[in-house]
Amino acid sequence: MKKAIIIGSGAGGATAAKMLSSHFDVTVLEQGKAFKPFSFPLEQLAKFRKTGLYFDERLIQLLLPNMRIDRNPEMVMVYGRGLGGTTTLATGNAVRADEGLKKIGINLDAEFDELFQELPITTDHQSRWLPITKRTFEVMKDMGLDPQPMPKLLRPQQCRMCGHCSIGCPTRAKWDTRELLDGIKVITGCKVTHIDIDDRRARRVHVTRGSRHETYEADVIIVAAGGYGTPDILRNSGIDCQPHLFVDPVLCVAAPMANVHQDRQLLMPFVSIRDKYIISPYMDWLSFFFNKQWYKPMDGMVSLMIKLADVEQGDVHDNRMQKTLTVTDHEYLKRGVDDCREVLMRLGANEKDIFLGTLNAGHPGGMLPLTAAEADSLHSPLLPDNMYVADASILPQSLGLPPILTIMALAKRIAKNIINQ
Ligand SMILES: Cc1cc2nc3c(=O)[nH]c(=O)nc-3n(C[C@H](O)[C@H](O)[C@H](O)COP(=O)(O)OP(=O)(O)OC[C@H]3O[C@@H](n4cnc5c(N)ncnc54)[C@H](O)[C@@H]3O)c2cc1C
Ligand code: SF4
Repeated sequence: MKKAIIIGSGAGGATAAKMLSSHFDVTVLEQGKAFKPFSFPLEQLAKFRKTGLYFDERLIQLLLPNMRIDRNPEMVMVYGRGLGGTTTLATGNAVRADEGLKKIGINLDAEFDELFQELPITTDHQSRWLPITKRTFEVMKDMGLDPQPMPKLLRPQQCRMCGHCSIGCPTRAKWDTRELLDGIKVITGCKVTHIDIDDRRARRVHVTRGSRHETYEADVIIVAAGGYGTPDILRNSGIDCQPHLFVDPVLCVAAPMANVHQDRQLLMPFVSIRDKYIISPYMDWLSFFFNKQWYKPMDGMVSLMIKLADVEQGDVHDNRMQKTLTVTDHEYLKRGVDDCREVLMRLGANEKDIFLGTLNAGHPGGMLPLTAAEADSLHSPLLPDNMYVADASILPQSLGLPPILTIMALAKRIAKNIINQ
């Protein structure tokens, strides 16, 4: 049987591994370790906020090692490192977001149909919305913001409505890509540094594993180390990427509101899709712990997230982001903030009490964007013939929407192309 190596076990990597496993001897190389959800009592930790202990978001890594944080003066980047990649930290939103792909001639109807058949995607969580969620939904409807229940990768009967979706689901009610990896050989704690390329063939994958250096050979190699990990591997292997980084920045707008318990709500239960941004209820744990303006009772605030489709410009080197928002980005963010202020005031908040969260982002991608010329092959001519990229790096434009399903659809098509070669 031919051998395939997949680098990364997140949305793209696990999907490709599962698809190829019936035709290839597949090995997944994953830098992180097994995922463990955050297990410390948030109420107790919240009491320490005023001690000044939580001075830097990067401290989260001590308590939740599978969450990685990078920050520059403008924003904080959050991504996953561990089995399941960033999907273990996702809020479970399952959205088709392939407008940019359609524009360059890529039709993924068949792959999305398969995903909707194969995955536990549901909006069957509405009956458990809290009163504040229902009221916010009605207010946004009255404002013409057209809120819609969010389709979720979720088994609702297992959901405790604990609100911890972005720090790891304690019950595994929320689906993530670890479920695709049963029966597949996965080597964790294994950082891919570079790939030897010669005569348009990828020959050898170099990894560091603890203090050891190892190499792996395969007939096909798929790089799916995510929008943050893949550019470094490609560049170290002599393949150039473009400074075309998008991140889908997130800004929360919140107000104090006694005893509403938004902290006990499934995150992002519904969504309003606007031009270039979305709005959705979201308890922002990052701001709650690390932003002084958020030092309020956990059960006593309402928070709305704005997620923006940013201008594709910026870079990542050695897992460090080089990115600033453009004037256009700031204009759209301001529109979102104005919408959220209006919603909060209609819910009864005082305008002067409204506060903003920490600007953060969790959807890096776009540094090896697909073009119309690659619409059939989904294979960049910059890559050797037997090497593919199958993660957020190949998305041609920022989405401002949850990307997991779209990355999975691309990874499925890439795996089919490889099988049919
Ligand atoms: C808090 C949060 C909530 C989110 N919620 C949602 C949501 O609800 N719905 C949604 O659609 N999207 C959501 N996202 C975004 C989504 O999770 C990511 O866009 C998606 O998982 C990216 O898939 P990927 O395959 O590109 O990379 P990832 O899923 O990040 O996987 C990359 C994998 O590669 C590994 N890796 C990296 N470098 C190396 C290396 N050198 N060697 C070996 N392995 C390596 C990493 O450890 C990781 O496991 C969220 C993101 C965050 C941060
Ligand atoms: S709210 Fe439900 S899906 Fe989210 S972490 Fe809690 S149990 Fe899991």
